[in-house]
Amino acid sequence: MSDAAISIHNVSKTYAGTKNNPPNLALDDVSLDIPRGKIFGLLGPNGAGKSTLINILSGLVNKSAGHASIWGFDIDRDPRNAKASIGIVPQEVMFDPFFTPLETLELQAGLFGVPKAMRRSVELLEAVHLADKANAYARTLSGGMKRRLMVAKAMVHSPPILVLDEPTAGVDIDLRQQLWRYVRGLNDAGVTIVLTTHYLEEAEELCDRIAIINHGRVIADKTTHELVSMASEKLIVLTLDRDMDDIPDNPLFNKVERIAPRALEITYDKDKANAGKIMSVMREAGFDIEDVSTREADLEDVFLGLTRDAA
Ligand code: ADP
Ligand code: MG
Repeated sequence: MSDAAISIHNVSKTYAGTKNNPPNLALDDVSLDIPRGKIFGLLGPNGAGKSTLINILSGLVNKSAGHASIWGFDIDRDPRNAKASIGIVPQEVMFDPFFTPLETLELQAGLFGVPKAMRRSVELLEAVHLADKANAYARTLSGGMKRRLMVAKAMVHSPPILVLDEPTAGVDIDLRQQLWRYVRGLNDAGVTIVLTTHYLEEAEELCDRIAIINHGRVIADKTTHELVSMASEKLIVLTLDRDMDDIPDNPLFNKVERIAPRALEITYDKDKANAGKIMSVMREAGFDIEDVSTREADLEDVFLGLTRDAA
């Protein structure tokens, strides 16, 4: 038995074609072990297959091949226990507009067979800052409130794993921060968190480990630290003593951009050059350097490099 929170082995999914669309291979032999107790990010551009993978775990989509288990329970052989071990916040917000948030949570708890005495609907509403909306119709909630209600709904049965599919798409900055505080708190309390996102910064800020998925394939699966240090490019910004007529060029430069009349942003390979070398190239070209700053490559650089290579 796997001690991973979620274990995915050789999972593929082909959506059947229609009259106007050919069959679509949305997942292509995906294998992933999502460790317990961590915040795990599934990062990829739109259409990469993230929701398809999440929907397979939740039982909404049938996979075409492969195996998956949740908290050690095979999703095909032991679907009840698998489902009880996971709470999923789907990408699309959906609930009955005529139920109140409190009713929505009570109903969901009933579906999961949570005994009355064990329910914690009010506590959950408080946790997602919706206590004052407990008795309002769901249709009167704002988009952000609905999103938070979805999170509470996913937690009614106290699963050890919470999955959030693009949780901050369309959520404003303040609510995003609130949501992350809550999610981090759950993680501190031992809940394994899986989130999908196409925001690199979000993944970099929150996740301990990140898998990158592109065109249905996993192209990286590493700790956030390892991924970031994979970046081979570095960036230096030089402010020169005078305006440039032409943008200088040199074989050591991967990319040069004039970001102000006297400022150049130069990208170089850290295996081939360093900041000192770049600056002496510029001095030899007749410029004095008045200011300099460098930036480490971030996840975006890695992401772009990987998705370019795998395209
Ligand atoms: P992501 O969540 O990463 O944006 P999805 O899993 O939603 O990606 O989609 C992956 C691919 O599968 C896309 O090409 C998408 O058009 C296709 N797809 C998703 N859902 C369906 C469906 N129900 N029927 C047919 N194709 C689908
Ligand atoms: Mg999606």
